[in-house]
Amino acid sequence: MSDELKIYAPDPAVAAQARVSGMAAYEALCKEAETDYEGFWAQRARELISWKTPFTKVLDESEAPFFKWFSDGTLNASYNCLDRNIERGLGDKTALIFEADGGEVTKVSYSELLARTCRIANALRAQGVKKGDRVVIYIAMSIDGVAAMQACARIGAIHSVVFGGFSAQSLRDRIEDTGAKLVITADEQVRGGKHLPLKAIVDEALALDGCGAIEKVLVVKRTGGAVTMKEGRDLWMADAVAGLPDSCEPEWVEAEHPLFLLYTSGSTGKPKGVQHSTGGYLLHAALTTSWTFDLREDDVFWCTADIGWVTGHSYITYGPLALGGTEIVFEGVPTYPDAGRFWKMIQDHKVTIFYTAPTAIRSLIKAAEANDAVHPKSYDLSSLRILGSVGEPINPAAWEWYHLHVGGGRCPIVDTFWQTETGGHMITPLPGATPLVPGSCTLPFPGIQAAVVDETGKDVPWGQGGILVVKRPWPSMIRNIWGDPERFKKSYYPADFQGKYYLAGDGAIRDPKTGYFTITGRIDDVLNVSGHRMGTMEIESALVSCTELVAEAAVVGRPDDTTGEAICAFVVLKRPRPTGDEAKAIAKQLRDHVGKEIGPIAKPKDIRFGDNLPKTRSGKIMRRLLRSIAKGEAITQDTSTLENPAILDQLSQNN
Ligand code: ATP
Ligand code: MG
Repeated sequence: MSDELKIYAPDPAVAAQARVSGMAAYEALCKEAETDYEGFWAQRARELISWKTPFTKVLDESEAPFFKWFSDGTLNASYNCLDRNIERGLGDKTALIFEADGGEVTKVSYSELLARTCRIANALRAQGVKKGDRVVIYIAMSIDGVAAMQACARIGAIHSVVFGGFSAQSLRDRIEDTGAKLVITADEQVRGGKHLPLKAIVDEALALDGCGAIEKVLVVKRTGGAVTMKEGRDLWMADAVAGLPDSCEPEWVEAEHPLFLLYTSGSTGKPKGVQHSTGGYLLHAALTTSWTFDLREDDVFWCTADIGWVTGHSYITYGPLALGGTEIVFEGVPTYPDAGRFWKMIQDHKVTIFYTAPTAIRSLIKAAEANDAVHPKSYDLSSLRILGSVGEPINPAAWEWYHLHVGGGRCPIVDTFWQTETGGHMITPLPGATPLVPGSCTLPFPGIQAAVVDETGKDVPWGQGGILVVKRPWPSMIRNIWGDPERFKKSYYPADFQGKYYLAGDGAIRDPKTGYFTITGRIDDVLNVSGHRMGTMEIESALVSCTELVAEAAVVGRPDDTTGEAICAFVVLKRPRPTGDEAKAIAKQLRDHVGKEIGPIAKPKDIRFGDNLPKTRSGKIMRRLLRSIAKGEAITQDTSTLENPAILDQLSQNN
């Protein structure tokens, strides 16, 4: 980038009270992990987790790359998130503040959440669910959703949450892959004022081939909308829990016992069933909530992710509860009843820590710039102290807006890089320590050995782009791809690196002076134009930095006879989609802008305008589909996680 790096040092007041206070404290933790890697993690595992049987082994590498952590220890995740807080005197403390789509608020204390969890756990046991059985949860954001996950954990059943936006076919695929015995769902869900079916989709999925293992369906009543109940298979949750006690003896499981399976977003291919452990996973969920978010007694934490994604697992269901925090669970969407919903909820609930995704920020910027009433400045956001971002790289322009307008220029932004597979944050600032640079996820979390290497696994010098790897196993890492150990090895421990390093699948570059990491996009997304290697992310950020015009941009390559690859940009403007001469004029203006920001070599050859971009249901841009469109190919890939199929036609047409 042509601009000088902008650096935001931590506010001294934030730093003074933070758990990890100042860079010297951060560096000391990194040093500690380097000197005694196992000791570093063992100490945190003893501090943050209550073990039924304490572990004596820390890391077991004997079956690498199938690593084990704390393997002779036993624990229960739900005991750690609920009972333990009550034993510490937090029984009456609010655990969840649930806000429904229509605005109704329900609060539950730790004691109430435990009772609800235990009733569901008892119902699962009564329906024959045992330790190791899989339970698919297909439900919207709700107290019951969180309680259902905790209930599975309580009895050692393995949950697999499927996001409520998925179709019957995608749900079927996941049910079949997990071999689940039982589904927990609701009659309907409410999003943006609309009632959408859940139970009817479960019925449709179960009517397809491959769901033969399902014995029971438990249905939570959310709206009272009409559903068909199949005799002998389907049961209302209220009836299933009727008469069952509010307490339930936890199943003490080995640390390596799978806590859950979760399918990746499908940005780059067919979703993978990521298998996580109980002990190591819970440790990192709790530790990152403590250090990255600095979560305290009196905080009101809000992670806007859905429990259908890993972010909702680690930073709604497990991390904040393991620390006894108070958190928001939101059923609705950011744009209903208007695009000021997030800001109004921060104001109403006096949220102190707010964690969301770049895709939400970009769409709210567009709305706020068109209408003052939904601009953050029209709300009192003074309760906020820390902001977070996750899911995609956040473009510097969106970062600056978030920092200034949402954070009032005073709240640090933790840009957290991690993956479904990593279980928790991998590269992220710590709010009281790390000086921030917009667009950079800064430095590895203490203990995480992240590095940038070339195709042979050799470290590349700072300033040179390469492949992001993690050199040592860490506690919350993926244990396997469910039922497919070969794909696990091939995807994450490929032979190119002698099976030694975990391959993230993303490219990265470290700043030559500070060593800060910037994610340059998926490995497949690196372009080679006339011998110049460029990350798509850099070109996208240059486009989005044209703030008066551009709302969002995605860049892909397509084969080109003269330059090897040519840059093709798909752009969503802040104004209606232009056509004809107007489109040509704006395309020229954008091309010049990129030329000025990066250099003439980065000027996109093709610029196409759309009303939107193809996105996964978690809001990520699906560049692999754009690559096919850019090449003029028909799309034959897996589109099961695509949110908005109609957009493909629009983008396929030339302007
Ligand atoms: P699939 O693996 O099926 O292609 P996915 O990679 O999108 O899907 P997730 O696990 O939800 O599935 O997303 C992880 C990816 O999201 C990372 O590999 C990275 O590309 C991107 N990502 C997440 N957070 C950040 C961040 N803070 N900065 C940059 N990229 C991020
Ligand atoms: Mg991935």
